[in-house]
Amino acid sequence: MLVDVHNHFSYYQKDIDRALKDIHENGVLMVSVSTDFPSYNDTLELAKRSELILPAFGVHPMVAHEHMDHLETIQKTADEALVLGEIGLDRMWTEDTSHYPDQGLLLETFFESAQKHDTIVILHVAGAENKVLSMLENYSIRKAIIHDYYGSIDLVERIIDTNLYFAFDRSYLESYEPEIKGWKERLAIATMIPDDLFLIETDGPNKPPRRMPYEALLIVAERIAELRKTTAEEIAIQSSKNLLKLIKDDPRLSKYANILERS
Ligand SMILES: [Zn+2]
Repeated sequence: MLVDVHNHFSYYQKDIDRALKDIHENGVLMVSVSTDFPSYNDTLELAKRSELILPAFGVHPMVAHEHMDHLETIQKTADEALVLGEIGLDRMWTEDTSHYPDQGLLLETFFESAQKHDTIVILHVAGAENKVLSMLENYSIRKAIIHDYYGSIDLVERIIDTNLYFAFDRSYLESYEPEIKGWKERLAIATMIPDDLFLIETDGPNKPPRRMPYEALLIVAERIAELRKTTAEEIAIQSSKNLLKLIKDDPRLSKYANILERS
């Protein structure tokens, strides 16, 4: 069983039946994040249709300011969720800096819940890597996946030392070189993360390569294999093992651990 640890499965929309068929035919467990209540509800519905959809509840930091009136509902929903994501802080694409405090409040709401229930968090950290890492330490959150990392190579040591999981995505593909600062550093990071802490994801389907789930994941696995000088198969197997390690002691996730264990 392969795993994609960060995808927005509900965004497949008109292609949803094809996408579901694809993950069942090829054996891919999708950790399906959400970015607001409608996308979470859609994801919960999909999880009823397929045991290969692990639904995660999140409110994306870039829409934090629209959710300040219902932090209590968010807290309650987070308390009942299996996994939390996509959550975090964004200092890279958020142009209105007056939204930063709202992002902080929203993330604190999620982290309080994660702390209370020892829930896995899937983090958007773009441009706010230091701040998110400090918050994780303050809340003693142990189970976290760093997604979409554009931070410095120096901070990577801290991520490794704290045993956080690091998810590699499509943005390591050569086609991304023109739009990513510190490209060489980025490629070096791909070799720094130890075997027991890396994961793979697509952030699909709305980000290139915009394929069906299995093919999109293979494209990422092949690229990460090339960078880490191994095979795509090894990358895929190790990533599945690492996700199993992360979820297996959480009784709420036993159904998914069993799926990974028996494959
Ligand atoms: Zn995402």
